[in-house]
Amino acid sequence: MLLLIFHITMFSPSYSSNQRPVVDKIEPPNWWVGMKWNRLQLMIYGQDLTDVSVSFQTDKLSAHVVNTNSSYAFVEVEISPSLSAANYPLDIIASGQSITVDYPILEREVGERRHQGFGVEDVVYLITPDRFANGDSSNDRVEGVMDDFDRLDPSKRQGGDLRGVIDHLPYLQDLGVTAIWLNPVLENNGDNSYHGYAATDLYRIDPRLGSNSDYKALVDQAHDFEIKVIFDHVSNHIGIRHPWVQDLPTENWLNGSPENHHNDKHYLLSITDPYADPNTENLLRSFWFVDAMPDLNQQDPFLANYLIQNTLWWIEYTGIDGIREDTYPYADQAFLARWAEAILNEYPNFNIVGEIWATSSAYIAMFQQESQLARDFETNLPCVMDFPLSQAFRQYLEGEGSLQGVYGVLAQDFLYSDPKNLLTFFDNHDMARGIFIAKGNSSKIKQVMTMLLTIRGIPQLLYGTEINMMGGQSHIELRSNFPGGFPGDERDAFTKTGRTGEENEIFVHLRKLLHLRKKHRVLTSGKMIHYPPTFDNDIYKYLRVGYDQNILVLVNGYSEKRWVDLSELSHWSNQENQFVDLMTEEILHLDFTEGLWVNGWDTLILLQNP
Ligand code: CA
Repeated sequence: MLLLIFHITMFSPSYSSNQRPVVDKIEPPNWWVGMKWNRLQLMIYGQDLTDVSVSFQTDKLSAHVVNTNSSYAFVEVEISPSLSAANYPLDIIASGQSITVDYPILEREVGERRHQGFGVEDVVYLITPDRFANGDSSNDRVEGVMDDFDRLDPSKRQGGDLRGVIDHLPYLQDLGVTAIWLNPVLENNGDNSYHGYAATDLYRIDPRLGSNSDYKALVDQAHDFEIKVIFDHVSNHIGIRHPWVQDLPTENWLNGSPENHHNDKHYLLSITDPYADPNTENLLRSFWFVDAMPDLNQQDPFLANYLIQNTLWWIEYTGIDGIREDTYPYADQAFLARWAEAILNEYPNFNIVGEIWATSSAYIAMFQQESQLARDFETNLPCVMDFPLSQAFRQYLEGEGSLQGVYGVLAQDFLYSDPKNLLTFFDNHDMARGIFIAKGNSSKIKQVMTMLLTIRGIPQLLYGTEINMMGGQSHIELRSNFPGGFPGDERDAFTKTGRTGEENEIFVHLRKLLHLRKKHRVLTSGKMIHYPPTFDNDIYKYLRVGYDQNILVLVNGYSEKRWVDLSELSHWSNQENQFVDLMTEEILHLDFTEGLWVNGWDTLILLQNP
């Protein structure tokens, strides 16, 4: 990549004159030999580009201009399969004058840990990078991007960065998570943009977090610790300070404009509703979340190619294993289908999870690839977020729901084409933390953690969950800084001695669960059989069966000790009836024709005939 950055600076002002076109940069900044995506769209940024023509000085690369205006030229390049890696001179000609720039086509990097995908064997740990750990104080303030650093104002940047994540990879490996999802890491050169969802340069890591090569180093080192990396990607919108907004690349690049856009009515159901008026669907597709986030129009073919290539570029450059795609129903579905297809075509082991924030399983299932549900759009999305289960967990935590809610969600898994490929969670960076809505009830959090980590799906935990970080209702409170991650912190909760007794208790509990999950494949991939809790008996019982093991999980939804009747499970009984409680490692004899006592708000994980 250094080559490339060097290369861009070679477009010196000496080229510039009124006659000659001026080239400021080209995106993507390079491509690779041997990619299936071998019809590349170059986007040239500069001045006086109207009516330019282009040609490479080799017949193995054909190039022709497909759209121009004064500031941008779009060029379609065909890359021959026999091309070797090199810098290829590209002549850019206007008014009889030409300039030549080198375009790098690189060798692909190989490695068995690159692009692994993620699945039920994983547990995803979600990090808001600005709020996790500050590993490099020298990048807290960076010239050229809006100064947004203020340790006294929690709505501003706190200084966390990629180095801070790299420094804690051993901690995360010890905890037992196997994948990290970082909130978006691209440049967000705007006010209050620490969250990362208002990008101003789609090819640059935010310098407050590190450099492009730092991000690549993070992926490489995470892989060394057997931790996969999931990139948070946004096709739907950008930040208002993205240079495109002041000088649109095409007429239809955005839905609306800063002066004229709509951010009120929009209906999630409209894209799956068989009776919806197309105009109602358009309200969703063109919706601006906030004035500071212009909505991209992926129906523009040049933007569509740009976004697909931008995603492929990050995957190929860094070796990441998966993508979390933001605000999935809000972007153009035909585009997203093509986008996901291009990714999976290039990287067959890859996984992509879509954020579809709705509490109806049917609605979410509709977006999963190979869904048999009737709909009028294509989808190639492998994984969806299980917001319905999240709601059931949260209602249980809040004391307004019961374990019936959890059972009721799982019992609707027939809706999904692939119920294993659901990202499951009880909180994330957008919702008050589980422990907060449970009003500090650590017993209930432990129960929900146990269910999350022993039922189907790919569990996701929010940073700080391991120490019961409380947060609050607002984004600022729930995304508070991890104690010990920042210079001057009074204590370091990444270490046992820096944690309180209560924090250590939850840490040990979660760590134990995570390691049990690694040890017993049946917990991640075994068949699930569950038994309905009832109105008058809020006890949830389920088995995971397979790989020569049976594991029985019992969840008591009452605050007091209850007798758990196991007669429904009597046919699972065998002569020995010996079990080991996997959390305490105690051996017990259990007669299924009878039952056992389970403490209030307690959960047992019992391995049969150890
Ligand atoms: Ca920093």
